Amino acid sequence: MSSSVTGVIQDLERILLTPAQISTRVTEMAARLNVELAGKVVTVVALMDGGLFFVADLLRGLEIPVRLFTLSASSYQGGTDTSGEVKVNWPANIELRDQDVLLLDDILDTGLTLDIISKRILAEQPASLRTCVLLSKRRQRLRDVPLDDAGFEIDDEFVVGYGMDYQGRFRNLPCIGILNPNKPS
Ligand code: 5GP
Ligand code: MG
Repeated sequence: MSSSVTGVIQDLERILLTPAQISTRVTEMAARLNVELAGKVVTVVALMDGGLFFVADLLRGLEIPVRLFTLSASSYQGGTDTSGEVKVNWPANIELRDQDVLLLDDILDTGLTLDIISKRILAEQPASLRTCVLLSKRRQRLRDVPLDDAGFEIDDEFVVGYGMDYQGRFRNLPCIGILNPNKPS
């Protein structure tokens, strides 16, 4: 890991997934999509900002034609508890009718975010919808979201890094980790 991020990594209680583990798994996920979507043009609907690196890495592994739309959705008000309310920024130019859609997000937690967005996508009458997340938390969901693939199942702990933040920080960590409860100062 580069020395430029070691200061930030000291804010972690522990590393959950190393850059190598993430990379291997994301490559596998892309390989599976290449088989399942062979011969199609895939319309990716990607949730930002948390999905930033997952989406960038997964898309570079795809060998099929891709169109990309990014959405922002927020359910957290800067803390580590869900507010239960999801705000979605739906792009005006999005065109999903009869398209093979791939919905991507960083984490499936309560399911509220992906439930709202997948219902909205289905209302546009796509030809198909696949949903993949990098992380799926082992916890009771508030909404049942059908997942086609999840990179890793993790315990119900708040994670940061590889795009995911705590109060706007830690997105640039190349690993995924659990914050040190005594940090950041
Ligand atoms: P859900 O609507 O499923 O409860 O939450 C999904 C969103 O909450 C994710 O897209 C992610 O942005 C955020 N989220 C859920 N768990 C975590 C976590 O452990 N760490 C961070 N940084 N964000 C999380
Ligand atoms: Mg998110």
